[in-house]
Amino acid sequence: MLMLRCPRCRCVADLDALTCTACDLALGFHPPTLTMMQSPPDGVRLGEQRWRPCANRERLDCNWLSGSDVETEECFACDVVRRRPDADEESAWRKLAEASIPKRRLLTQLAVLGLPVATFRDEAGGLAFDLISSRSSGEDVTIGHASGVITIDLVESLDEVREQNRIRLGEPYRTMLGHFRHEAGHYYQWKLVEQTARIDACRELFGDERASYADALDRHYEEGAPQGWEEAHISEYATMHPWEDFAETFAHYLHITDTLTTVALGGVVLKAERSDGVLERDVLPRATYVDARIEDVLDDWHWLSLLLNRASRAMGRSHLYPFTIAEPVVAKLAFVHEVLTAVGRDTPRPILR
Ligand SMILES: [Zn+2]
Ligand SMILES: [Zn+2]
Repeated sequence: MLMLRCPRCRCVADLDALTCTACDLALGFHPPTLTMMQSPPDGVRLGEQRWRPCANRERLDCNWLSGSDVETEECFACDVVRRRPDADEESAWRKLAEASIPKRRLLTQLAVLGLPVATFRDEAGGLAFDLISSRSSGEDVTIGHASGVITIDLVESLDEVREQNRIRLGEPYRTMLGHFRHEAGHYYQWKLVEQTARIDACRELFGDERASYADALDRHYEEGAPQGWEEAHISEYATMHPWEDFAETFAHYLHITDTLTTVALGGVVLKAERSDGVLERDVLPRATYVDARIEDVLDDWHWLSLLLNRASRAMGRSHLYPFTIAEPVVAKLAFVHEVLTAVGRDTPRPILR
């Protein structure tokens, strides 16, 4: 979604890079411009402001820069966390560092898409993260969203725990980034759909979200997804309740557009003439799909995901994208696409401070 470069040697840098892999320069992500900068210990001066390394650079490997005009010494991505483990919970902090990578990726993508990212510090019902571990806190922690607050159980960042849950629940895909994107889907449905005139069109596609969630939860864990669920849903979990259907669809929209634009910025073009008849046309993934129709997004994704699935198998892994998108799901993705692009167009691009 962003092609970040080392400012000194122009080598490509990962979103979470702390140093350049080629020239060893200390790197810092500058949230307002979504670019990678040099990050000396005392910060860099840009105009009126000094941008310093986030206070959590050492402990959480946070590579974001923090502006001198804010009170906190934490960056925007850290400052949006409302609850985190106590400072002396060493193992929970390691999991927090792990979970902070997909959290920063989500926030970056939201900014790229132009979605509002006012936090709980700016307004009531603003975005907040409670990142706590059910293991070290002894609390019951349920992954979910309520009134702007996204809760993530940090124990899910342990591979063995997440994989066990994935198998137990029969899911083909379970990642921390997937959790963050799914919960963000709940947040934006609440914010951009339920509190607006878009709710009627949303109910037509996803169902009435006023249906009892507790009943739906019980039914889902007793009976599982109904037969033929894949004909109208992106995942089994999406069948549980209209809220879950929207959140799953939203997460997939972010998965698909992030992967397509990442590949596009890497210069990938699929040439039909070189594919021995596999491709019906050349496929040119785009750096942005803001002005595209959902059909164009999904047509590019169709060909690209087939290739990426084969590539993943070549590495001895399962499919990169283990889902099929049925026609009714296209309509749901179209709704998400229309809402997000309309919001992105109509509001000034949010500046991550
Ligand atoms: Zn470099
Ligand atoms: Zn930070």
